[in-house]
Amino acid sequence: MFNNLSEKLDKAFHILKGHGKITEVNVAETLKEVRRALLDADVNFKIAKDFTTKVKDKAIGQNVLTTLQPGQLLVKLVKDELTELMGGEATGINLSGHPAVILMSGLQGSGKTTFSGKLANYLKTKKGKKPLLVACDIYRPAAINQLHVVGNQIGVDVYSEPENKNAVQIALNAIQHAKSNGFNVVIVDTAGRLAIDEEMMNEIANVHAAIKPQETLFVVDSMTGQDAVNTAKAFNDRLNFDGVILTKLDGDTRGGAAISIKSVVDKPIKFIGTGEKMEAIDVFYPSRMAERILGMGDVISLVERAQEQYNEEEARKIQKKIAKNEFGFDDFLAQIQQIKKMGNMKDLVGMIPGAGKALKDVEIEDDAFKHVEAIIHSMTPKERSKPSILDMKRKTRIAKGSGRKIEEVNQLLKQFDQMSKMMKMMQGPGGKNMMKMMGG
Ligand code: GDP
Repeated sequence: MFNNLSEKLDKAFHILKGHGKITEVNVAETLKEVRRALLDADVNFKIAKDFTTKVKDKAIGQNVLTTLQPGQLLVKLVKDELTELMGGEATGINLSGHPAVILMSGLQGSGKTTFSGKLANYLKTKKGKKPLLVACDIYRPAAINQLHVVGNQIGVDVYSEPENKNAVQIALNAIQHAKSNGFNVVIVDTAGRLAIDEEMMNEIANVHAAIKPQETLFVVDSMTGQDAVNTAKAFNDRLNFDGVILTKLDGDTRGGAAISIKSVVDKPIKFIGTGEKMEAIDVFYPSRMAERILGMGDVISLVERAQEQYNEEEARKIQKKIAKNEFGFDDFLAQIQQIKKMGNMKDLVGMIPGAGKALKDVEIEDDAFKHVEAIIHSMTPKERSKPSILDMKRKTRIAKGSGRKIEEVNQLLKQFDQMSKMMKMMQGPGGKNMMKMMGG
């Protein structure tokens, strides 16, 4: 996420770190580099200019040059200003209606249908809601099918009327259906076009006027940079929406949309999409995003994700198995599944302070465990629970079966053995001291 921008900002601050004595001249030089980095990230010219002017004024106001660590203070000022620019505080969504009605808007391909599913899944699993998804695209039957597929995947009902060509009517019928069947949130997915056109705008404005949603959300592909900002402006002029959803932040996004959109439409970014999976949705926290952009990582989000996956009962079971020396490859596979649920590897690594920069040239696969899993899947259940029975012949078979090299099989077995010994040690009588040593 935003690798390029992070790298350039880091370089900008290097100017300050390189000088023994910091002068007004190199503060100005740094800020010029910051501005250039923002422009490269496709941030609008005026926004980038205002940004550095504000930081500079604050730096002068706080007498940056006379402080003990002017470089650090300047980084902090930039971080604060970035946070402010992206909206300050996180903003939730309004779920006050009975049912609460959420209208989704945006261009075709922005990720509207995918996000509707993600939001339904989020409200169901995290907020205990009973959502209903509504397919309101009267032009593309494929879009209706897509929403049904998504609904099936997450176990959420989908309302559609494939024969009905009146979007307003479908939406109103859906709300009625929700009322009579105990749904407390209705998410209306509307038709999008490849570009803004009058007919589409009229249609969604009519639906908006008829259903009076508690929340109107505008979905935009963050990869489209300045275009994203222009589209947001056009939709906001017609719909006066309540919030923005930025999708595809997992890709090679330059960052311009995330940074500029709030100040152009004066509406907060509420959620972000970070992948194609239904779990790849995050509440947007401006300060955490600013920290990530500045390469400071996002430990809070990382811990939150780990906590979400933590299952006390499961943890106790694993502990017992370790104590009895029964921790096998099947348990190991289950642990890998837990980690995978936290998000893709690139994203997770980006949340560790400094890691993004340190590993910038390392190719991290989205599915980093693929090969390990293939090797384990090639073992018999008996071998998985007791890997010590594996002989050379079987190891060679496993390597063939999984399409990996024998060295990789050996390495995995060796690492697994070391890990098992280590875990056993942590559990044993000496373990308590070791835990203490590690601060536990
Ligand atoms: P719609 O036309 O606006 O409904 O867009 P879709 O929901 O069909 O999404 C268009 C494409 O973008 C699909 O291939 C999605 O899988 C993909 N997509 C949606 N959101 C994300 C995201 O956050 N990250 C990535 N990488 N792809 C996404």
